Amino acid sequence: QIAGPCALVVFGVTGDLSRKKLMPAVYDLANRGLLPPSFALVGFARREWSDAEFADTVKDAVREHTRTGFDEAQWERLAQGIRFVEGSFDDDEAFDRLKKTLTELDIEHGTDGNHAFYLAIPPNAFPTVLAQLKRTGMAVSGRNQTWQRVVIEKPFGHDLHSARELNALVNSVFPEESVFRIDHYLGKETVQNILALRFANQIFEPLWNSHYIDHVQITMAEDIGLGGRAGYYDGIGAARDVIQNHLMQLLALVAMEEPISFSPRELQVEKIKVLSSIRNIEPLAQHSARGQYGAGWQGSEHVDGLVDEGFPADSTTETFAAIAVEVDTRRWAGVPFYLRTGKRLGRRVTEIALVFKRAPHLPFDESMTAELGQNAMVIRIQPDEGVNLRFGSKVPGTSMEVRDVNMDFSYGEAFTVSSPEAYERLLLDVMLGEPSLFPVNEEVELSWSVLDPVLAHWAGADEAGDTPEHYAAGTWGPECADEMLALTGRVWRRP
Ligand code: NAP
Repeated sequence: QIAGPCALVVFGVTGDLSRKKLMPAVYDLANRGLLPPSFALVGFARREWSDAEFADTVKDAVREHTRTGFDEAQWERLAQGIRFVEGSFDDDEAFDRLKKTLTELDIEHGTDGNHAFYLAIPPNAFPTVLAQLKRTGMAVSGRNQTWQRVVIEKPFGHDLHSARELNALVNSVFPEESVFRIDHYLGKETVQNILALRFANQIFEPLWNSHYIDHVQITMAEDIGLGGRAGYYDGIGAARDVIQNHLMQLLALVAMEEPISFSPRELQVEKIKVLSSIRNIEPLAQHSARGQYGAGWQGSEHVDGLVDEGFPADSTTETFAAIAVEVDTRRWAGVPFYLRTGKRLGRRVTEIALVFKRAPHLPFDESMTAELGQNAMVIRIQPDEGVNLRFGSKVPGTSMEVRDVNMDFSYGEAFTVSSPEAYERLLLDVMLGEPSLFPVNEEVELSWSVLDPVLAHWAGADEAGDTPEHYAAGTWGPECADEMLALTGRVWRRP
C-alpha cells in the first residue's frame, strides 16, 4: 500500500539514528514506489543549512546506507520535497517558521495538511518539542480530515513512574491514536513471522504450552561494546535498553493467545493480557543476573573492557542483564521464561528458543541416548533469519544410538525477495496510520512494572556493595547468569 500525501518532519536530523536509519529508509521507500510524488521531508536542526545543503547531507547518508541501490533520477524526485528549518527546540520563532514551511508545502507541494513529527532526539528534549507543537497548533488533527502524528523512540521512560509521566505528557499533546512508539524489533519480518508460524499452522500450536514446553529462552546478544555510546549508556544499562522493550515484546508475541483478528486493537488486547500476567520469579537475588564486560577476545581480536573504553570505573550500570519470569496463565503455568541481553557476548544473535520437556520414557539403553538433548524450536530473529527444529535421530549403524539433529528453515534460501528494513516498514505504517506494530502506552507501562522490582533489587545490591559481576568479552556473560538456570538444572543455549 502506498502512503498518501504527507510531510515527515524529523527533529534531530543531524543525529546518528537519522543518518543511519531514517534518511535511508525514506529514500528506500521512495525507491520501492511506496511514497507519493507529493511526499515531503522536513529536517529541523540547529545548523545554518539551506534546503540544498540539507538535501546534500541526506543524499550522502542515503548513498552510504541505502538497501535498494542509489538511483539519481529517483533521488531528484525525492529531493524536490526536501526542506530545512534551522533552529533549536526552545526557539519559538523557529517553530513558527516550521509551521509556515509546512503550510507552504501543503499548498505548493500537495502534502494536504498531513504531518508526522519524528522525535529522533534525546528524551530530555521531548517536553520542549511537544510544548512547541502544542503552542503552534501543529499537533491538532482532524481539521478537514487531515492527520498529525508523533513518532517517539525508546527509551520510553526510565522506570514505571517516568514512563507514566512521559505518556501523560505525550497524550496531553497528541491523542493516543496519533502516537507511534518505535520498537524497531516489531518492524522485523521474523518478528511478524512469529504470528504466522503460530497461527497459520496446525503442527506447532498444540505443543505450545506447559504440557510440552519446559522453558523459553529469549536472547538478544551483541558482539559490539559500547564504543562511542558510553555517555548515553551510563545510567541506562542492558535491562532498560533492551529487556523493557524488545524482549518484552517478543515474549508477548510468543506467549499470547490467538487474536480474534490481526486488527491493531485485537493484537493489543492479547499482548496486554500477557504483559499483565507476567510476574518475576522470586527471590530476585537468585533469579536475576547482571554483569559488566572486561577485556577479552572476540574471535581472534583482543578487545578492551568497559573502563578502558571510557566508561566510569565506579558505574554500576550493567552491560549484561538476565531475568526469569513466569506468565501466570493456564497455558504457561510453571514454565519459566528466561530473558537475557548483553554487549560483547560470543556473537551477535537474537533468538527465541522454546525448549521442550524430555520424552516421559526412553525405551533405549541409557548409553544410546547420552548425546540426546531436549527437543527445541529456535526462532532466529537476526542474523540469518529462520527457524530451526532440534530433535533426536538414529545415528547410522547397527546400534540404536540416538543423537540431536537440526532441521532448518532459512528466510534467505526460501524467499528470493529481500525484506524491507524495519524502519522502512515502520515509517510507512506511520504514514498509513497503521498502528499494529507500535506498542501503546499500557504495554510500555506493564513492561516497566515487571522490570521495576528488578531494578530496585539491583539498586539495593549496589548500596550493599554487591556490584555487577565481571565477564570477559567474547563469553556468554557472568557466572551468576549460569547459576540462575543451574538452580533448576537448566543451561543457557550457546547460539
Ligand atoms: P544523537 O546522535 O545524539 O542525536 C541527537 C539529535 O538531537 C541531534 O540531531 C541533535 O542536534 C539534536 N538535538 C539535541 N538537542 C537539541 C536542541 N536543543 N535543539 C535542536 N536539536 C537538538 O542521538 P541518536 O542516536 O540519533 O538518537 C535519537 C533518539 O533515538 C534518542 O532518543 C535515542 O535514544 C533513540 N534511539 C537511537 C538509536 C540509534 O541507533 N542511534 C536506536 C534506538 C533509539 P545537534 O547535532 O545540533 O546536536
